[in-house]
Amino acid sequence: MTHIILLGPPGAGKGTQAALLVEDRNMIQLSTGDMLREAKDSGTEMGKVVADVMARGDLVTDEIVIGLIREKLLGDKAGGFIFDGFPRTLAQADALAELMEEQGEVLDHAIELQMDDDVLVDRIVGRAADAAAAGKPVRADDNAESLKIRLMAYYKQTSPLLGYYHAKGLLRGVDGLGTMDGVKADIAGVLKA
Ligand code: AMP
Repeated sequence: MTHIILLGPPGAGKGTQAALLVEDRNMIQLSTGDMLREAKDSGTEMGKVVADVMARGDLVTDEIVIGLIREKLLGDKAGGFIFDGFPRTLAQADALAELMEEQGEVLDHAIELQMDDDVLVDRIVGRAADAAAAGKPVRADDNAESLKIRLMAYYKQTSPLLGYYHAKGLLRGVDGLGTMDGVKADIAGVLKA
């Protein structure tokens, strides 16, 4: 069983690569973004609290996302966990380390999908346009204004995790600019090493 974190700015392809790992390795994707969107769509109290924060592009509180993850760690572990979009702050990273230890589990790798900001903007604006053209719902936060705030949140709050996991000997870099299959192959290389 392998447990990994996918790190990288919004639009780096974390969700796409996580879905491939679920398919190929029977791993379990734990996306706090998906969990929060579900809570929002189903109209739970917590969903109502987080809706505005998410639409704006800011981070929701550590307490809420740690609570969501805590519940999932108690469930099925299958081929291992892929943490997608979590942790996003140092407090979340410390909480994850504690929760994993409680479960007797070890984090194997923190894989950074390395990106270029201009590509991110194009990808996210493109994702919104594709969804709209196909009649699919467009994410409330896939617009230029939210994206600026999401990128700032990444650099201010999440990018310190790169140093944190480097210090723990867990950080692995992968070029996130390649094709979907290219990035997938690079991640497979990390998992084999
Ligand atoms: P994502 O789908 O990962 O891009 O997440 C969408 C939005 O959900 C983010 O912009 C945040 O508002 C919120 N979110 C997701 N994961 C976290 C997290 N680990 N900590 C705080 N906020 C989060």
